[in-house]
Amino acid sequence: MMPLRNVLLVAALLSPGPPWRADAAKFQVHVDVSKTPNAQPYVKPVKALCEEWYPRINIILFGKDAPLPFKELHIRFEPKVEKCDGPNCIEAGGFADENTIQINFGYLGRMKDDYRAMIVHELAHINQHYRESPGTGWLVEGIADYVRHRYFEKDLQPKLLELDGYRFGGSQVDEQAKLRKQGYLFGYTVAAPFLYWLEMRKSKGLLVALNIALRQGSYSPDLFQKHCGAPLDTLWQEFIQPVANSTMHN
Ligand SMILES: [Zn+2]
Repeated sequence: MMPLRNVLLVAALLSPGPPWRADAAKFQVHVDVSKTPNAQPYVKPVKALCEEWYPRINIILFGKDAPLPFKELHIRFEPKVEKCDGPNCIEAGGFADENTIQINFGYLGRMKDDYRAMIVHELAHINQHYRESPGTGWLVEGIADYVRHRYFEKDLQPKLLELDGYRFGGSQVDEQAKLRKQGYLFGYTVAAPFLYWLEMRKSKGLLVALNIALRQGSYSPDLFQKHCGAPLDTLWQEFIQPVANSTMHN
């Protein structure tokens, strides 16, 4: 007869548990605070966060059996992180590139949001690992925020919420006109509820289909027609209809 200790061990190994747990042994997370020794208390919780969410996000984006894009993740705390577009640089809370996330340690203490939510957004970029494709920036950021807000923060609703509060830059009239026409192009928290609404109302498998196409480099806006039965811009109009007449200026 098997000793009780071993019986319990076998039982634990055989218990189903959440599907992302099975992937925990298939990758390693390295958290580097060598440049910011005061970030030491973040090492354990950030490692645990990534070990849970990296496989979990993979299932959300690509389905249950999709392989993880990288065997190792590197989370590097930096005294400061900037995102540059040519000579113009702006400070960023975090930044993902391939299998590495840089975290702006100087910024963490000033963040109003839960820093973990930002890491989940950046982690989603690692999972995405899409082929470069022009005109898809709004989807890249919209999908990362969809993961962050629907699954981690759990504050996403399938409707547009930030009509007046969202700062798009430029004049408000200008912003409202852009929002009315093709607002999804703003990405982030404008595209995220749109994608959620499409999943709920039009096509359950849309998100996975979009992610597979973006990964393969075969994405085209026609995918929306194929899965949701109408062109992207028509779907956007339907999405904003409930609020278009009441809150948006002409
Ligand atoms: Zn992003």
